Amino acid sequence: MGNELKAWKPERPASKGATAYHEAVFKAEYYITILDELMKIASSKAAAGDVVVDFGAGTGVSALRLLRRLKINIKLWLVDNSAAWLGKAYEVLGSNPEVKCFLLEKRESGYAKLSDTIGKGVADHVISANTVHLIPDIEKTFNGIAESLKDNGTFTFQSGNITRDNKPEGALMVDDTVKRVHDIALGIVRTDSRFAAYRKNINQRIKMSESQRKFVFPDTRSINVYLEALRNAGFEYQEPNFKLFKVEYDDWLKFLRVRRLQAGILPEIGGNEPSAKEESDRDDLITSATKILFKELQKINPLADEKGFTLEITYVSAKKHSKFDYYKESLGLKGKNALVTGASRGIGKAIAIELAKNGINVIINYNRNEKDAMEVVNEIKNTKCIAIKADVSNFDEVKSMFDSVKKEFGKLDILVNNAGIIMDKTLQNMSKEEWNDVIKVNLNGIYNVTNNALPLLSKGGRIINISSIVALDGNFGQTNYAASKAGIIGFTKSLAKELGKHGITVNAIAPGFIDTEILKSVPLTKKKEFIGLIPLGYLGKPQDVANLAVFLASDRAGYITGDVICVNGGLRF
Ligand code: NAP
Repeated sequence: MGNELKAWKPERPASKGATAYHEAVFKAEYYITILDELMKIASSKAAAGDVVVDFGAGTGVSALRLLRRLKINIKLWLVDNSAAWLGKAYEVLGSNPEVKCFLLEKRESGYAKLSDTIGKGVADHVISANTVHLIPDIEKTFNGIAESLKDNGTFTFQSGNITRDNKPEGALMVDDTVKRVHDIALGIVRTDSRFAAYRKNINQRIKMSESQRKFVFPDTRSINVYLEALRNAGFEYQEPNFKLFKVEYDDWLKFLRVRRLQAGILPEIGGNEPSAKEESDRDDLITSATKILFKELQKINPLADEKGFTLEITYVSAKKHSKFDYYKESLGLKGKNALVTGASRGIGKAIAIELAKNGINVIINYNRNEKDAMEVVNEIKNTKCIAIKADVSNFDEVKSMFDSVKKEFGKLDILVNNAGIIMDKTLQNMSKEEWNDVIKVNLNGIYNVTNNALPLLSKGGRIINISSIVALDGNFGQTNYAASKAGIIGFTKSLAKELGKHGITVNAIAPGFIDTEILKSVPLTKKKEFIGLIPLGYLGKPQDVANLAVFLASDRAGYITGDVICVNGGLRF
């Protein structure tokens, strides 16, 4: 069980501004409809006695709507970063003994996390309406929400300012309309003599007010940013629900005439402390600009008509991963990016899945077997995972794979050189092709991949090369394979020396006999012979190698480099 922290109480009565905002928002019909949709989802999850946290509770409008819908008693905790707004929420809800307020403290960078404000493992559900898009550091925020939730706790949020691919033509975000109103209003300032007084230094003022406007209406972000942050914080989420709402022009105008919002829409006129004249001019400008926008929408927007336009609102439901293991967090792997070559089956697949279980985004490289690679991608649900086809022995294919990695992931933290083949023959019977093909994939491949990966590899990165026991002991009929795998060991040790100064470790794993397809060509009698030599008495599993690979990838293995570590059931020591 978690420990709940101390609740907050306001020191003074609610301000006039907060009261005006509360009432205005309550009157905007579209706003309440959108909110009620969130409350429908939230109330379906809550059970009697649950602690429900309203994150970004503002003046308490969303909390009032939730209480109205629920037929059960819950404990409702309201959290906000504004004492003025929370003061109003306290005024309207504070007399309810089941309601508590918590103020997010200002910290050097942003605000305190939710878990620092209400405690860890204390909440059953967190809901958040129209807030997440205002937060710059969404990763830290979602992490704080995950920490504050009990295991299997839920997080449901909603926003009208999220971009995505394939948004229906004409469906708007709140930001689309507000930005347009801002630009039209500035056009009016420039052309209408009634507002000539504001033309002086207007360009300079636009520049100076930019940060204030962005604070109230920040740049929009893609849904993928939110989903990635959820994954990294240990949430499982359902597919987001994108819902369209018809908004009547009058209703929207009412909303845009809320004074507190107008300071964010058109900060160039009066800023935070406008005179009465500036406040009234700003209201005039925004009202006129909004009417112009409405006419414009009717003409060009396929989802607008004479009554109103269409907003798209995104609803996301997530659950704190029941298997999310905070011990795993101490491995320091969460949110990192890894590429595993030859990850469509066998050892590479096990490594990729184990990395993902530890919160790592993975790129599955394969050469021929797309179906198998896609099965691995489908199996990995909690982190971002894509498959990329590239023959590691082909430099150009590898190069273009890393171009895609750069585009999709930006950087790489972990590289696992696993792809490998065998073509067993005694040397006397081995063709030039059989020699060359094994060297090309197993040894040239490692050059091609690592050389292209290095520019993307972050400080403190990890390179793990899969060698073999055969590199150390040799094996009958495997001169080509043994040479390639021994080459990998020399490569590993040399590269460890080159990259130590960047905090990048380079290690090799030398598996013994591991039960994968690669052993299919080995006759059963030979396999039995091998097993007889293994002190532990059985073939290894891909998972045995994956466990070591994850450890070597972690922060805990930071002082191990240039080494060759065996996983062989005691076959060699
Ligand atoms: P496996 O089941 O045969 O899997 C090999 C993987 O490598 C497949 O995903 C395959 O993908 C990929 N691959 C092969 N050629 C490739 C190429 N040119 N470019 C990109 N990917 C390629 O083998 P495994 O047993 O898991 O072996 C994995 C690694 O461990 C190998 O380096 C192997 O030498 C080493 N190892 C294995 C054992 C053992 O007993 N199993 C022991 C010691 C070392 P596609 O099918 O899509 O081509």
